[in-house]
Amino acid sequence: MADIAILSAVQAFLHKQHGQFIDGAARSGSGTRTIDVVDPATERTIASVSSAGSADIDAAVASAQAAFHGAWARTLPYQRGVLLNRLADLVEANAEELAQLETLCTGKSIHLSRMIDVGQSAIFLRYFAGWATKITGETITPSMPSMQGEQYTAFTRREPIGVIGAIVPWNFSMMIGVWKIAAALTTGCTVVVKPSEFTPLTLLRLAELAVEAGIPPGVVNILNGYGDAGQALIEHRGIAKVSFTGSAATGVKVGQGAMAANLTRCTLELGGKNAAVLLPDVNVYGAVAGLLQTGFVHQGQVCAAPERVFVHRSRIDEVLDKMSGGLAQLNIGSPLDEAVQFGPLANKPQLDKVLGYLDEARRQGQVCHGGRRLDRAGYFVEPTLVRAGSADDVLMREETFGPVISFLPFDDEDELLGWINDSPYGLSASVWSNDLSRVFRLIPRIQAGTVWVNMHTFLDPSVPFGGSKGSGIGREFGSAFISDYTELKSVIMRF
Ligand code: NDP
Repeated sequence: MADIAILSAVQAFLHKQHGQFIDGAARSGSGTRTIDVVDPATERTIASVSSAGSADIDAAVASAQAAFHGAWARTLPYQRGVLLNRLADLVEANAEELAQLETLCTGKSIHLSRMIDVGQSAIFLRYFAGWATKITGETITPSMPSMQGEQYTAFTRREPIGVIGAIVPWNFSMMIGVWKIAAALTTGCTVVVKPSEFTPLTLLRLAELAVEAGIPPGVVNILNGYGDAGQALIEHRGIAKVSFTGSAATGVKVGQGAMAANLTRCTLELGGKNAAVLLPDVNVYGAVAGLLQTGFVHQGQVCAAPERVFVHRSRIDEVLDKMSGGLAQLNIGSPLDEAVQFGPLANKPQLDKVLGYLDEARRQGQVCHGGRRLDRAGYFVEPTLVRAGSADDVLMREETFGPVISFLPFDDEDELLGWINDSPYGLSASVWSNDLSRVFRLIPRIQAGTVWVNMHTFLDPSVPFGGSKGSGIGREFGSAFISDYTELKSVIMRF
């Protein structure tokens, strides 16, 4: 097969001189640096973006504040829902353009860009749209004794917290951006989003669509720049809450910076070293199919992907054999080729990081499939399986965020739980078995924000998602996000 044809709208968008999107309009950045956007499948520069300077950061926050107190404050909850639904319609109407932009910046397969970054974004927008009319407080009867026969009643209001500073990583730049934009808008907040320097384009296009949908200027602003622009944004005193998704190391810096700047509230969605557990009765075909799909989709660059797999000793040879067989059949190549299942890593620093882990695995003699860079242009590495020597191996402890899964046999359930939980991370885990009594006994003992059973990496807008321990603070989705994007005000009345 061959690459799909790039739409003329995409070619035109790539040729534009990009920068910032502030107060409903595109403008060039006042920063001194230019971001070259590189297609990871070809290593060619495909677009260029002028970076934000401090004047842009001030302007973006000022525009978001003006909209927060002005046009957006006057927009009724049901109208906010209507506008988010309209944005979802426009995402679908421009689906192929958005999907191609996402694939060109990230190396994600075109199928995945269509299904996840575009398709799921529309679903998330519609889900969040529904919350706009359902954010309520409580009524309370106070218990203090009456002194002079007076009575009291009280109620709470959930008020939008203000301007959200949203920081988005490069792996699902559009979808994760949408999670934050939709949560902000449905609660009545406005937002300044900083995408990763590697993926500045899709959110710029989405911001244009937001204006086309009728969302007032200033409600959605996009700041493009490097890490220092993100740092300046989260430390800006006009930001009421930071919603950050990215690595644990940056997350700690962001959390400290936001707190020190203005006691700014923070939600942190960070990395993971997610465990999958295959119990003795596991359906090996089902588990192998699930691990192949969720461990190697987007070349393993998924925060919740299974990176360490504990298999009961009685089944591990069979599992590794079938995993290896499955990987041998993977069609590796250009992410714009619809027949391809596995493409390049998303950027050069990510390639260097993963190659370092592959060197480590080879040094230890642990690689049982793959393990090398592919000899072709682009940031391609082989999908890799590692048979670990112990739970303390580097590849069993550190997040590779790449197409590398490590396997370790276990015999004893207590020892297994010790290995799973002896990790600074706690994002997600999965248990594969039809022995429900055993599964239900394990679930409360696994330290993770999400536990899947007989599947892995299934995100739904109605189910809260976030990390325990070093994987983060706060939850997205469900009703859990509402408390993070609103301030609770108590009103007490005497009568
Ligand atoms: P990084 O932490 O490197 O970057 C995340 C974002 O933060 C980028 O936009 C980056 O900008 C920005 N940034 C960098 N430095 C600062 C700073 N000092 N202040 C504010 N912002 C800053 O993560 P990656 O982009 O490499 O993403 C991969 C990581 O994200 C993995 O660890 C993965 O597990 C995690 N992740 C977690 C998810 C979750 O929901 N829990 C989901 C997806 C990913 P720039 O790129 O321009 O430097």
